[in-house]
Amino acid sequence: MVPRPMNPKTTDLYRQLSDQVSVSSITHWLKEMIAIPSENPMESDARPGHREQEIGEYYLQQMHELGLTVTSREAAPGRPNVFGARAGKKDRPSLMLCGHLDTVPTEGYDDPYTPHEKNGRVYGRGSCDMKAALACYLEVARLLRDADVTLSGSLILCGVADEEWQMIGSREIGRNGPFADQCIIGEPSDLSVCPAHKGQFGLFIRTFGKAVHSSIPEQGENAIERMARVVNALSDYNEELASRDPHPLCGHGTYSPGVIRGGDLASAVPDYCELEIDRRVLPSDETEQVRQDIAARLDPLRQDDPGFRYELSEPSWDIPANDLPVESPVVQSLLSASAELTGHPESARSFPGATDAPHLKTPAVVCGPGSLSQAHSIDEFVEIEQCVRATKMYLRAVTDLVA
Ligand SMILES: [Zn+2]
Repeated sequence: MVPRPMNPKTTDLYRQLSDQVSVSSITHWLKEMIAIPSENPMESDARPGHREQEIGEYYLQQMHELGLTVTSREAAPGRPNVFGARAGKKDRPSLMLCGHLDTVPTEGYDDPYTPHEKNGRVYGRGSCDMKAALACYLEVARLLRDADVTLSGSLILCGVADEEWQMIGSREIGRNGPFADQCIIGEPSDLSVCPAHKGQFGLFIRTFGKAVHSSIPEQGENAIERMARVVNALSDYNEELASRDPHPLCGHGTYSPGVIRGGDLASAVPDYCELEIDRRVLPSDETEQVRQDIAARLDPLRQDDPGFRYELSEPSWDIPANDLPVESPVVQSLLSASAELTGHPESARSFPGATDAPHLKTPAVVCGPGSLSQAHSIDEFVEIEQCVRATKMYLRAVTDLVA
């Protein structure tokens, strides 16, 4: 599909603002944010070194200084969501620029919080995932303030807690707002425009047996051996998924067995085993269908083993897929901006990972600076040129949609 042309009425404003994009502003904010450790505390509570609170306060302060109307709310103690709005003549149309404040852990990472610049890149934990996009959003707000632009709709910046674990931040926003007509999430996509992604659904499959001393295994029932049959029964599940109709951007769903646990000691026949599976689901997939798929493969195992019993747990992960129509104005605006900036046409893609998008209850597209291959690595960086280009793409969306 050919992206629609940019809105001629606002093209002049876009050109005027995009000429003023400042590399030093963006890298200044980016480095300051990298220097604030905001590692996700994962299963634990917020604690020193895991300072979403502190980066939330920093982001709130920057938004305030840029003239935005700021508010914040805690998704959990010490774990804020922060918001900044530039009100226009009307509340709508509205555009949200959204990014998570947390980062993944830093084990094995030498000096993750000392940002440094080398060969056109900024290095440090959180650089591409996703403090770069947060810095680009601030630059958009700065440019609008400096040019004293009166928007016709409203622009909302949004810093979100806990994307890297349970996504409690975006779930909270999905319950309590703010909501907007369209949203951009600047997760590192190498600036590909990604209106869709698969969801992540996980659950435990549990098998049961009868524990006896391992010297008389014939008198017991081995839960691990039963799990081996489960694993075998699911071994061609991916082939079945690949035979179903694909999503135009996401392709096929997938299945992967990820974690297995069972037995306490080798001298006993184990009576319990569990397998955690990861199922990447398409926008059209229902989680109930996933459970039925698994049951259809496991129920027949009773034929050869009348004592065979299994259990499917409640979901261990349940992040829905995202599926914004490619025709959506924000998608078209980003695609046309990308084509203009790079000189070659860009088509919409799916984002490989799961994101906050489906929780926000605002239609969202993923598009951000940096590469997923650097995200979560121990040598994380973002290309400064991509930050500049991202800022211009976001400016294009702002001027197309709410100027
Ligand atoms: Zn991320």
